[in-house]
Amino acid sequence: MTRLILATRNAGKITELRAILAEAGLPHELVGADAYPDVPDVRETGVTFAENALLKAHALARATGHPAIADDSGLCVDVLGGAPGIFSARWAGRHGDDRANLDLLLAQLSDIADGHRAAHFACAAALALPDGTEHVVEGQLRGTLRHTPRGTHGFGYDPILQPDGETRTCAELTPEEKNAISHRGKAFRALLPAIRELVG
Ligand code: IMP
Repeated sequence: MTRLILATRNAGKITELRAILAEAGLPHELVGADAYPDVPDVRETGVTFAENALLKAHALARATGHPAIADDSGLCVDVLGGAPGIFSARWAGRHGDDRANLDLLLAQLSDIADGHRAAHFACAAALALPDGTEHVVEGQLRGTLRHTPRGTHGFGYDPILQPDGETRTCAELTPEEKNAISHRGKAFRALLPAIRELVG
């Protein structure tokens, strides 16, 4: 069985991609970066989601000798010209302070009316082989930003993004409902043909 490495320490992402591979009938063994504790995390020096996903996938494929998959994602707000974008995780200054990031964004948009609050989650998913072969795809989840957070599931900006056609925010959807429509799910599924072709 071919081993595939996913460049994450997030157990939720590993479970999500495992389910997508199984659904597609791909029998690969998927392990997270934790299986290789000596491989250092790569610095995300790219200026697009795709560049950062490729950086992470190439670094892991080179270091482990196995095909590697990496994703990079964020929230893009139309009226902010696509920001926070690649800065989503550290919009308020400290990496990973979800509450501060969300509060800052809501404050910045406080005068913006409903009709101008379009935004989307974007995700790039990259596959890299140890020989340098690469493939990268993107997925989006479009919606509108609410004025106040709602819901307790999920993470990051989930409590304020209401997907198009929904009356609930992402944080009010069950994890299964969110995975079925998410930018990450779409990107991982879009990567399946390349996994079949390049990894087998
Ligand atoms: P990462 O690329 O998965 O590390 O995500 C970067 C940042 O984008 C996260 O810290 C969140 O702020 C934001 N983000 C990405 N995907 C989601 C999502 O599905 N829900 C909420 N926030 C997200």
